[in-house]
Amino acid sequence: MSFWLSIAVQTPAHSAIAGPLTYRSEFPLTPGSLVRVPLGQREVLGVVWQALDGPGPEQAGRDIRPVAGVLEGLAPLSANWKQMVSFAAAYYQRALGEVALAALPPQLRDLSTAQLARRLRRDAGAGPVEPPVATDSIALNDEQARTLATFESENGPFLLFGATGSGKTEIYLRAVQALLAREPEAQALVMVPEINLTPQLEARFIERFGSAAVVSLHSGMTNPQRLRSWLAAHGGAARIVLGTRMAVFASMPALRLIVVDEEHDPSYKQQEGARYSARDLAIYRGRLEGAKVLLGSATPSLESWHHSRPAAGDEPGGRYRRLTMAGRIGGGALPRVRLVDMNLQPRKTVFSAALVEAITQRIARGEQAMVFLNRRGYAPVLHCADCGWKSECPHCSAYRVFHKIDRTLRCHHCGFTQRVPRACPDCGNLDIAPLGRGTERLEEHLAELLAGTRRPDGQPLRIARIDADTTRLKGALESQLAQVHAGEVDVLVGTQMIAKGHDFRRITLVAAVNPDGALFSSDFRAPERLFSLLMQAGGRAGRDADYARLNGSASEMWVQTFHPQHPLFDALRRHDYPAFAAQQLQERGQAGMPPFSFQALVRAEARTQEAAQGFLQRASEAAAGLAGADPITLYPPVPMTIQRVANIERAQMLVESPSRAALQRFLAAWHPVLHAERDRAVTRWAVDVDPLAI
Ligand code: ADP
Ligand code: ZN
Ligand code: ZN
Repeated sequence: MSFWLSIAVQTPAHSAIAGPLTYRSEFPLTPGSLVRVPLGQREVLGVVWQALDGPGPEQAGRDIRPVAGVLEGLAPLSANWKQMVSFAAAYYQRALGEVALAALPPQLRDLSTAQLARRLRRDAGAGPVEPPVATDSIALNDEQARTLATFESENGPFLLFGATGSGKTEIYLRAVQALLAREPEAQALVMVPEINLTPQLEARFIERFGSAAVVSLHSGMTNPQRLRSWLAAHGGAARIVLGTRMAVFASMPALRLIVVDEEHDPSYKQQEGARYSARDLAIYRGRLEGAKVLLGSATPSLESWHHSRPAAGDEPGGRYRRLTMAGRIGGGALPRVRLVDMNLQPRKTVFSAALVEAITQRIARGEQAMVFLNRRGYAPVLHCADCGWKSECPHCSAYRVFHKIDRTLRCHHCGFTQRVPRACPDCGNLDIAPLGRGTERLEEHLAELLAGTRRPDGQPLRIARIDADTTRLKGALESQLAQVHAGEVDVLVGTQMIAKGHDFRRITLVAAVNPDGALFSSDFRAPERLFSLLMQAGGRAGRDADYARLNGSASEMWVQTFHPQHPLFDALRRHDYPAFAAQQLQERGQAGMPPFSFQALVRAEARTQEAAQGFLQRASEAAAGLAGADPITLYPPVPMTIQRVANIERAQMLVESPSRAALQRFLAAWHPVLHAERDRAVTRWAVDVDPLAI
């Protein structure tokens, strides 16, 4: 006797098969079961999707292969989990099997059934898990108490709009605590944008709930660690899962609460494969599973801000409930914002004299300062003034960055690296010079400017740099951050890596030396990102009110700009996110941009720009009539901002609609057309739904 099953497997990239495949089995299998099945010459992991009455007509005449084995001892994945995966695959235009398999820990693919059984026995041997009892915690302040009360009494989804240092994390902890007190078997998922923010959060959760109840899930873990966390979540032993965007797919049979911290952060958007937004999927999953969803940020995404607008007059409010915490814990003030008009500075000034003086004073008092610049390396370009040569990458439409430390030119797009030439490769001029500056040069320059400065103990000052270059080695970031926390560093120089999330206690001055680029970017989201980055960076200053009071110094955020009159800086000066958001939303509304419209990008890669654009053009023409009465706008194909990377030409095409549902209908109908129009010249193509950068 045979049972017919549809099973999700990882089909090869670009195969036109979007759904699960049909297999047979000698015995019935519950949907959600994990199995091994033959695929071509290999045996692969699969998820039983559903039981079929018999082979479908499309299988006629085909040999339907039998399931090779079942992963014993693992409870089937839940119907909700499968539903979320199905939704994500359909919404983000990817094959079901790809999304399903990518959502499982990689090691599940490699372990034999026997190995898995051993693992499960061992993990079970770790002992029955006690229901976590939270240890007593600090008393909430009024704003926190009010916020928590509203959260407990309503359904959400919620947007917690809370200033940096207002005690949002404490709200997350209390929400989990209340949940587990009510339902000891329940599970909570807490997401953060960056791996390097997980240790600090993990420590706070473990302190509150004990280590047995808490697991982490992120890409910085080894495969065995990930499998262990995943099994603990799937089996229910882990009450609390902390993770990055991938954790949104964790199997959690008793999920009741989802927290998305720093919900505005772009890293919640996956940038390859299925380009999902973990924040948006969290909202979907919450509704599906009946779990409360709490998004938190000091600078919410304009989407979430718009969704949480209060009702006004006849206008109904948004779908989210907005909760506000404006004050900082302990009454600490937000940093005073000081704009330096760079038009009034001598030409080529990097650090204005006033800023250098302010940093010097902070150090002399034993405080710390943080300087950030969103560009790593020494200088973005090397340049010959005689003939105009610049350090272009031969493989990309981009310059190679000069790294002084090892005297290399490195392409940050394709990785192509060479020793710095002794002389100009075109004219032989020996005097080639760096143009512009990155963090490495900034650090060097600052060290010169502050050379005579002493700490209160008479020791010379210490400058540390934190960016992708200094943190390449495992553990490097942790040890560098530890030095900052321990007060061994006086000035911290770095990229946006240092601006996010970290709970620095002694930093009282933060400076952005050159943020102007984003003001006039072609990307309409650039001002939103800049504003939130500056607010986040400012949030690193003066976090410890007692410390600031002790020193009698107010914290400061310095911004050097050629456009001090820009409305963005005006809102920043007043720490007025709502004003900034209102102004941006008005512009977006007038221009019909998100969140008032919905977008998708089709990206194509080919040997030539003509081939990449040609494919998009054909697909565009073949789309005629597909939209029916739906309002769909197809824009012409254009080269991507960085048009060529590693000798591959890249083009993209924007699709837009005022209706999300209409855009979804169109994309689904268009997908087979894209498959059909693609020719051999096109090496890759992909659809990016709700893209973050266009
Ligand atoms: P946010 O996440 O909003 O930046 P946190 O939750 O990290 O803020 O809180 C900032 C600091 O204040 C943390 O060190 C936290 O332990 C502390 N804190 C939070 N709530 C309280 C409270 N009610 N009383 C005293 N300290 C608090
Ligand atoms: Zn030259
Ligand atoms: Zn390159």
